[in-house]
Amino acid sequence: MLLRKALIFFMDFIYPPCCLICGKINKNNLCEECERLIYSKAKFKKSIKLKRKIYFKKQIYIFKYEDVVRKLIIDYKFRDKSHLYKLFSEIIIKNKKICRNLKSYDIIIPVPIHHKRKKERGFNQSELIAKYLATKLDSIKLENKVIIKKINNKKQSKLKKSERIENVKNVYEIINKEKIVNKRIILFDDIYTTGNTVNEISKLLKENGAKEIIVLTIAKD
Ligand SMILES: [Zn+2]
Repeated sequence: MLLRKALIFFMDFIYPPCCLICGKINKNNLCEECERLIYSKAKFKKSIKLKRKIYFKKQIYIFKYEDVVRKLIIDYKFRDKSHLYKLFSEIIIKNKKICRNLKSYDIIIPVPIHHKRKKERGFNQSELIAKYLATKLDSIKLENKVIIKKINNKKQSKLKKSERIENVKNVYEIINKEKIVNKRIILFDDIYTTGNTVNEISKLLKENGAKEIIVLTIAKD
């Protein structure tokens, strides 16, 4: 333990922790100024842009997936900055309009990732946030053992639009049906792009007895 602390101290000396946005030395990975900037960009937004049958009621998000927000999300998911889940969660919780919209729902389900990917990354980025939200929003319960991703499909971002609908079919499976019957559900994902993933999961949830689904994401591409 002591050795570990000494090592961290030593590493901080050579590579001092910096603000992820402006690069200034800051032990919190985000300086006050940049944190304010991020908060100023956080707005309640909603959309539905699918031209097909939609199985969720509406989609809510707080950021456009661009500039500093895009950078932070990439840092969060791919550059070992898992602690950023707290920042994103707090931004959601501090937005009164979002909280009002979420209040009437019973459970929150994070979009699952394949166990191989979870092992590579060490965490499911949506699960960390959903878990935090559930602890802070009293009436909403986390259900993270309801759906699994049984097939490690190709990344949606690597495919043509026409291939994306097929790519998410039969990839997810409901394993705990009794937990969703008659429930009002918040389906949480990090980024909303084409909506195919959340729509496919919403379809499954509905077919298995869910009452209503709302989609919540940090950002929309
Ligand atoms: Zn900064």
